[in-house]
Amino acid sequence: MIDDRKFLLEAFKEAEKSKEEGTYPIGAVIVNSDGMIISRGRNKVFSDCDTTAHAEVDAIRISGLAMLDIENKRFLKEDFTLYTTCEPCPMCSCSILLCFSIKRVVWAANDKEMGAMRKFKEGPHFLDRFNKISYDAAPFRDLEIRQRKMMAEWSISRGFKDTPWQYDNEIEE
Ligand SMILES: [Zn+2]
Repeated sequence: MIDDRKFLLEAFKEAEKSKEEGTYPIGAVIVNSDGMIISRGRNKVFSDCDTTAHAEVDAIRISGLAMLDIENKRFLKEDFTLYTTCEPCPMCSCSILLCFSIKRVVWAANDKEMGAMRKFKEGPHFLDRFNKISYDAAPFRDLEIRQRKMMAEWSISRGFKDTPWQYDNEIEE
């Protein structure tokens, strides 16, 4: 669990960059079975004018060499963990599924609106595939609140006043 926190904090470094770039403050890192970060991604939707440039997809796109055996045209099916500051959306959940190398996903904050990983894990579609991926949802209350506050600030800065990210942000003693 100590490592999970360490790598989530690395994902937050990416989220902070996205925030500075004026897009969704969401970051991700992919870690191999030796505990090495093999890639870093961040949201670039508004900074790159790309609706598909989510943090998780960004990290997966630059991990091709670690996930594919180009010579033999096969997927390497490694045992990687993806850390992201926000629960993966439907696109990112399926991108995680289709790279066949991410076996575990850890995210800082649940996303009631667009979060999809937990829904996919309930089935029925592609459940045999999603069963191969485990997850840890919002394991650290302080990091969950940190992400929720960033999402609230981002939403409010765009003119969305009553965002669900504003609520449930108290540390329980
Ligand atoms: Zn996404």
